[in-house]
Amino acid sequence: MNLTPEMKAQLQEQKKQCVFCKLISGEMEAKKVFEDDLTISMVDIHPAIKGHITFMPKEHYPILPYLSQEEFKHLFGIIPQLCNAVKEAMVSTAVNVFIANGGAAGQQAGHFLMHIFPRENGDGFFNFFWKPKETLEEEKLKILQNNFPIMMGNHFKRNPMSWHSGTGEMVSYLQDVYANETILHEDEQVLVVMPKKGVVKGQMVVYSKIEEKLIENLSIDEAFHLFSTASLAATLVFEGLGVHGTNIILKSGSSDDNPDGKLSVHILPRMAEDGLNKSLLWEPKQPSYDLDSVKSRIKDKTWKIKYKEDKKVEAIVVEQKVIKIDSEEKKSNNAVDEIKEAIERINN
Ligand SMILES: [Zn+2]
Repeated sequence: MNLTPEMKAQLQEQKKQCVFCKLISGEMEAKKVFEDDLTISMVDIHPAIKGHITFMPKEHYPILPYLSQEEFKHLFGIIPQLCNAVKEAMVSTAVNVFIANGGAAGQQAGHFLMHIFPRENGDGFFNFFWKPKETLEEEKLKILQNNFPIMMGNHFKRNPMSWHSGTGEMVSYLQDVYANETILHEDEQVLVVMPKKGVVKGQMVVYSKIEEKLIENLSIDEAFHLFSTASLAATLVFEGLGVHGTNIILKSGSSDDNPDGKLSVHILPRMAEDGLNKSLLWEPKQPSYDLDSVKSRIKDKTWKIKYKEDKKVEAIVVEQKVIKIDSEEKKSNNAVDEIKEAIERINN
């Protein structure tokens, strides 16, 4: 998003009150497990589960759409390596990434951040164990079906991917999903669907089509595409369904709430009074174990994390023609134009 001078001034004010900005600047002591130029990760001092860490941009942004394209790519490009470090340190089989956009979705900090949890079967964490019961109205589903392909098309124009030319092939690994759920988008790397029933109305799921791959095996570009798709889906439900907030929750590897271990990202449209926060969020509690030892264990595994931008992609192939996209154009377009365009179509 291109921030106006007024928005920038407002952010400067917020920053002064922000606990996370104080932890980042060193004014308050943080249990850091990783940091680089743009991002930082620390142990959550009220962990929902042993090994629970937070990960955030160093710059103060209240919500995800405020991040620049570069920061977005950097942050989400590092996620696979950070998830790997947490899994190795805690010797776990699975991992979750949790994002709350907006108070209705349970966002508590004014500083955009995500939570990473190591998971395993029998760990007693049932917050993401959902009973699907809600179905979105047909006409609202149509809005999403009409607009999501437009947003994805714009995304590929802004971020040309050498591998992208269409829907790619169906994968047997997702056979049940193709058979039972409504498809909203498909390309070579992801399949986006709306389940017939969701935990809330309008739940969308982004499945990775990269067979047998867990989050920690994704490249920076693959992770960028997965999270870009999830973030666009969140923007679409926020604007298109007029909800109050969204959750983006990644599941990867086998845990009680993800028995087949598939890599998927769930987008939950949230209303202030939907009652889901009671089961979805965790109570802040004092751990019975030493957080510094958890910190050292994770920190021992993060030294090798490195963000390396893949520069090779500069052209997109559409109907046999190669269209060059200059970098100026890529920079000036942003998600806001895309949302406006989507809203206009919804209104018409
Ligand atoms: Zn902050």
